[in-house]
Amino acid sequence: MFPVSLDLQNRPCLVVGAGAVALRKVVSLLEEQAVVTVVAPRAVADLEAFAAAGRIALDRRPYRAGEAGHGFVLVFAATDHREVNRQVFEDAVSAGVFVNVADDPELCTFQLPARVRRGTLELAIASGGGAPFLVRRLRQVFETRLGPEWAEWISAAVQFRTAVRARKLPPPAQELCFDRFVAETLDRDRLSVRVPTEQEQEAWLDATASGPRRRDASLAERRPVHTVTGSVALVGGGPGSAGLLTLRGRDRLLAADAVVYDRLAAGALPTDLPARVELHAVGKESGRHPVPQEEINALLVRLAREGKRVVRLKGGDPYVFGRGGEEAEALVAAGIPFEVVPGVTSGIAATALVGIPVTHCREAVQVTLLTAHECAKADGPQVRWDLLAQEPNATLVGYMGVSALGGVVDRLLAAGMSPGTPAAMIEQGTTSAQRSVVATLEGLPRAVADAGLHAPALFVIGPTVRHADTLNWTGRRPLAGERLAVPTEAFELRAALEEAGAEIVSVPLPLTPAARIVLGARPLTGCIVRSAAEVECFDEERGASGWDTAWTAWCFGSDPARRASARGWPRVEVVASVADLLAALADRRLARAE
Ligand code: SAH
Repeated sequence: MFPVSLDLQNRPCLVVGAGAVALRKVVSLLEEQAVVTVVAPRAVADLEAFAAAGRIALDRRPYRAGEAGHGFVLVFAATDHREVNRQVFEDAVSAGVFVNVADDPELCTFQLPARVRRGTLELAIASGGGAPFLVRRLRQVFETRLGPEWAEWISAAVQFRTAVRARKLPPPAQELCFDRFVAETLDRDRLSVRVPTEQEQEAWLDATASGPRRRDASLAERRPVHTVTGSVALVGGGPGSAGLLTLRGRDRLLAADAVVYDRLAAGALPTDLPARVELHAVGKESGRHPVPQEEINALLVRLAREGKRVVRLKGGDPYVFGRGGEEAEALVAAGIPFEVVPGVTSGIAATALVGIPVTHCREAVQVTLLTAHECAKADGPQVRWDLLAQEPNATLVGYMGVSALGGVVDRLLAAGMSPGTPAAMIEQGTTSAQRSVVATLEGLPRAVADAGLHAPALFVIGPTVRHADTLNWTGRRPLAGERLAVPTEAFELRAALEEAGAEIVSVPLPLTPAARIVLGARPLTGCIVRSAAEVECFDEERGASGWDTAWTAWCFGSDPARRASARGWPRVEVVASVADLLAALADRRLARAE
């Protein structure tokens, strides 16, 4: 196979078939501004919408023999009928036109590589058709490894090249300039890049230039000077469950130009966030190092100075152990307007979901939110454990408390707190991955170690913890622990599953970049598909990091089930109705629990 990049602008292309696969091809062709004709008796809603908007010509009828040879430069077939696909293939080949039949390498005279795009930078991945599973996973690897800054980097490189050429340096000197650009901006080991400043680029040019030192106007003029300043909203994303983001937080996100989010907040991104919104991950993630706080501050300032509406999305509440205060100070110092959208903090949400009211008539009349991971101070701990131990009618909620727990308990016991005080630890509260243990103060460290709880988790100490016995409503719901990807359109289905206790990732099809991030935030236990077209949309994603190895595809009807099996999905179950689905899911959970 010979790789080429085709200029399809204003060139006629034919797509036969109008399901989800065809839709993907059409979307890619429209991005290249091709002139697209779609032929199929029936079309999925998105293609109908493209036709209604005049973006494609949609002929709602069967394919006619010979048509593929009528002046198209590229032809795609993506119907469910092999005979039709074969006819299209033969017509195209005899007319000398390149043709691609979806999932049928024998009927292809060209293949489409998987693509990772950052601005004008394109990474194409192909396996000669032999290992599509690998291609899909590799694409995911690069999708997560290459941040959005690569787009800026490539555009800086394009402009740098223009500036170098304008100096009319001899070719070896030009190459030296290019070497310098790459050496200074690309970290080959970490596969990360940074965008150089204009001053740096000027300096590299000056250092290498041997010709006349004319000042180069093209660099100075290359970016418009932004007189408009953007703004930053520090938004609390809530404790992890999608529904616990505030309405105002959601509004700010949907209206943003750029979102800077950390790992704890990834699951709170609205999956319908428009694809135009830049997404910057700055938290701890596998394969990436956490971004230092100063760099986050600098990123917020830079994005806002570019005139963007920026949302800084944080887990829980931005000002509760979220370093939101430091970010706000950096914004004030830089003269950037900001607002704070408070969020539901995990200390009161995770507790509520396991049945612990943080205050309760007479039992607890005060609540202390504290960090167990307190800043080291030369003159001893900042938290007055000795005083806290003297308050019987109070609740202590400790953030960042897993590794410090043993020390905390020792301090409280030494200061006279009763060893029998009820105490609990909650991991990933409010999410499908929520786990908790309830014990006494004295017994909590052992119980936490036995259960193997990890961060993010918080501890709660105080009399109201005893209510977890009777008020633990989430644990009792039949689908607690399930995390299911459900097409956004399946509204009623989502509501029924949520009511039964499942965490739902509402997935717009075709998938949005934000939906991909949310899917990857925690292991999925399954997905719901109602048509073969939906199977195709999910199929692109299933190699990605969020998918549990034991996930199940719950298929409404045999059509999607056949397609899912044909795609090699590991567990495929057919269900006939919503009631049937709920029962099957509940049985599966019971079986797992036993
Ligand atoms: N701003 C956040 C807290 C950030 S500090 C908030 O308001 O919730 C990070 C700590 O928060 C974690 O170490 C853990 O102690 C706690 N935390 C965050 N989300 C949590 C969750 N879903 N369940 C339990 N603890 C959580």
